[in-house]
Amino acid sequence: MASPFLGRFFVFSIIFFLQSQGEEEESPITRFQQYLGFKTAHPNPNYTAPISFLVDQAQSIGLTTRTMEYVSGKPVLLVTWLGSDPKLPSILLNSHLDSVPAEADKWIHPPFSAHRTVDGLIYARGAQDDKCIGVQYLESIRNLKSRRGFSPLRTVHISYVPDEEIGGFDGMAKFAASSDFAELNVGFAMDEGQASPGDEFRVFFADRTPWELVIRAEGIPGHGAKLYDNGAMENLMKSVELISMFRETQFDFVKAGKAANSQVISVNPVYLKAGTPSNTGFVMNMQPSEAEAGYDLRLPPMADPDVIKTRISQEWAPSIRNMTYTIKEKGKLRDHLGRPIMTATNDSNPWWSVFKQAVEATGGKLAKPEILASTTDARYIRTLGIPLVGFSPMINTPILLHDHNEFLKDTVFLKGIEVYESVISALSSFEGVSDQAI
Ligand SMILES: [Zn+2]
Repeated sequence: MASPFLGRFFVFSIIFFLQSQGEEEESPITRFQQYLGFKTAHPNPNYTAPISFLVDQAQSIGLTTRTMEYVSGKPVLLVTWLGSDPKLPSILLNSHLDSVPAEADKWIHPPFSAHRTVDGLIYARGAQDDKCIGVQYLESIRNLKSRRGFSPLRTVHISYVPDEEIGGFDGMAKFAASSDFAELNVGFAMDEGQASPGDEFRVFFADRTPWELVIRAEGIPGHGAKLYDNGAMENLMKSVELISMFRETQFDFVKAGKAANSQVISVNPVYLKAGTPSNTGFVMNMQPSEAEAGYDLRLPPMADPDVIKTRISQEWAPSIRNMTYTIKEKGKLRDHLGRPIMTATNDSNPWWSVFKQAVEATGGKLAKPEILASTTDARYIRTLGIPLVGFSPMINTPILLHDHNEFLKDTVFLKGIEVYESVISALSSFEGVSDQAI
């Protein structure tokens, strides 16, 4: 027989269930969960369903939408909130539609179920990277319009782009290079940032630029027993040592606390290729005539690309040691005016001050601006000379992008909407800068 207590508990549960069901129909959290439910992971991201969801959302708020396709099957969605003075440079808020894959068996909840625990943790691939901001942009505009009756002076655009996680070549790279983008006349842009385990919001003013370096040595082959100069392996190993020494000096700055990881030039060996193959492995009594090594380099914006190139040609792969090299630059270090590709985070950039004050107005605090150790689509926009900050408002949150069990807490997500309300209203009301790029 059920005790009166259990009976009451049952009634409470029903009420709670009904209430939460009611909530489920209309809330920023459930819309976030819906967006997280789309299977947008590579290698086969579904772009159609999330775009139609976002179009519905944008239209329900009274925003206009436009879908462009620079590469077939890879749509870019542009959502627009027209300002009262559309001639002023606009504000662009960017996020990407796609996600990295997830190994479902390593997750405590299925990665596309967007399960919300009793503690409010919402588990999903993309919860932090970066579907949170994609929904927060819209929810903050929904609130600005409906609750505050706010109308922007400058036009606000939100872009949703494909393929960021695989380099953005068919996504933001093509969009940023298009006349559609030029016509937006963007004055200031925002893109994704990263979670902060502490209570200060992290903010990023530059990305590092990746280079792929391959060095090759050639030399006359010789008997394994012979000592002679200019063997291919010997020459390659000299370079490997020199590169390792350079790597150490850079890493020492980080270890001594004098620079963050993302502020130094990293150079890491990724493969070695040499030796004369035999049926059982390699011929052991022969010095080969060719040897090769591959390196991943990451350069912060203040690095001088010419200095690094000189170092490579004179020290790491000099022709006097029968060496050659190739560098594949996976992005630019300088914009069209020859300036380092980074956004000023001081008073010289009035947009920065507006952004910072808007975050602080919500009771938030910004951490010291950082360079992102990897790359995002932000680089394609900064390259055009447009100031851009990388910012995802997630404090007291472990950094779980690309990790198993990626989650975001519901309260953190909701606080982010409030932060964007402040940031978007401040940026779109800003009168000070008319047409210069900073
Ligand atoms: Zn991302």
